[in-house]
Amino acid sequence: MQLYEKQHIKIYNTLSGKKETFKPLNEGHVGMYVCGPTVYSNVHLGNVRTFMSFDMIFRYLKHLGYKVRFVRNITDAGHLENDADVGEDRIAKKARLEKIEPMEVVQRYTVDFHNTLNKFNFLPPSIEPTATGHIIEQIEIIKSIIDKGLGYEVNGSVYFDVLKYNETKPYGILSKRNVEDLIHNTRALDGQSDKKNPQDFALWKKAEPQHIMRWPSPWSDGFPGWHLECTAMSTKYLGENFDIHGGGMDLKFPHHECEIAQAEACNGSAPVNYWMHANMLIMNGKKMAKSTGNYILPNEIFSGENEHITKAYAPSVARFFMLQAHYRSILDFTNNGLLASEKGFYRLMDAINVIDDLKASESSTFNIAEWQQKCYDAINDDFNTPIVIANLFDAVKFINQIKEGKASISEADLKTLKDTINAFVFDILGLVNMTKTETGTDKLSGAVELLIQLRQDARANKDFAMSDKIRDDLAEAGIQLNDGKEGTTFTTN
Ligand code: AMP
Ligand code: ZN
Repeated sequence: MQLYEKQHIKIYNTLSGKKETFKPLNEGHVGMYVCGPTVYSNVHLGNVRTFMSFDMIFRYLKHLGYKVRFVRNITDAGHLENDADVGEDRIAKKARLEKIEPMEVVQRYTVDFHNTLNKFNFLPPSIEPTATGHIIEQIEIIKSIIDKGLGYEVNGSVYFDVLKYNETKPYGILSKRNVEDLIHNTRALDGQSDKKNPQDFALWKKAEPQHIMRWPSPWSDGFPGWHLECTAMSTKYLGENFDIHGGGMDLKFPHHECEIAQAEACNGSAPVNYWMHANMLIMNGKKMAKSTGNYILPNEIFSGENEHITKAYAPSVARFFMLQAHYRSILDFTNNGLLASEKGFYRLMDAINVIDDLKASESSTFNIAEWQQKCYDAINDDFNTPIVIANLFDAVKFINQIKEGKASISEADLKTLKDTINAFVFDILGLVNMTKTETGTDKLSGAVELLIQLRQDARANKDFAMSDKIRDDLAEAGIQLNDGKEGTTFTTN
């Protein structure tokens, strides 16, 4: 018997606005699609938060024994500066500014994306397709939408006819907008004059002579509209109907709304059963975003080099911080929040590291089966990781009491406790046992302590070139020195 037959997940479905019992289309199998990054710059911590929520969900589905096909794309073409189909392609713009090939931009930031996610201990998705690798599929979908009378060509560009679509299917069902309001609220922007109505969105754009990212099509040399790639890749790898589609809240409209309209127009049925949206990471009261400069990069967290933080934090501490909030809640990034999470994280790890030394007794003074089910109840309730973590801290208290001889546990319960903690902390939340690796590298600690001492001596002798060299060389080797009031400490990544 698989665990999913016993544990039933409830998912908040944006489409219905309710928590629904999760039932996949094919028993034992889950198809999940998550919109990936546009690879024109380094991912910031806000992006990481959204991807991390779906990494945790992927991990839990796998833990329950589902065979999951998790598709997360790479947007390497078609995403314009402005979501309303105007402006330059984000990747092409970066390439122009840096005088490099667009594919060099794509390569650089795809590598950065993977490196960053690896540091945070993400599992790789099952398939990671790219928009440029699926131009043919996108052209086929456009042809089908035109055939159904829902797309029209003007001057080499093709647009989706939102008002025509809305005559038979409601446009706006996901984001709870209606077309009448959209008509009142949408301004026509420069460059949109080809559209019949400003609500229409681009399926194909004719490339201007200077636009370097271009492909041949029946309508013009050009490039696909941004929303189309996700319809093409999700349909290709998960089918016309699949279980879960995820992304950040900010993608609900227009991106996901347009995905629904395209798939409905093309295939005549709703593409996705459960639409999931992760909430935003904010800083200084505003959404973390590259475009406004209000962001922090993962590497700055690991090195401590950012004005918003007072020290460096290990990737698992930052991961723990983010999972201490529910994925549908706004999370405020603060140094105090990280400090509190760091304390909690090491308290959890310290308890885990003594489990193997605990002595079993005849009986238990703590109901382990009930506690275990509470952990599952929390995660089954729309992946409520803060409640999971609160339950883990109940176990920490209990472990410490056993250690101090104030509580007891039977052999069988000790095994259940250990297996459940390992499953939740490492397999599902995806944390890494940092203290264990650090204590396991005592020799490294000794050597770094010596270098910290030599650096202090160099500083005392005003040999700042030497002290900087020690810090920089250690940083290059993945060891960050953190100067604080209490002296210098170090972290590894
Ligand atoms: P992009 O590369 O801009 O397409 O964004 C990649 C993902 O990060 C999308 O799912 C966005 O919704 C998400 N995202 C962007 N900013 C934030 C933020 N401040 N907090 C959480 N997720 C975000
Ligand atoms: Zn998408």
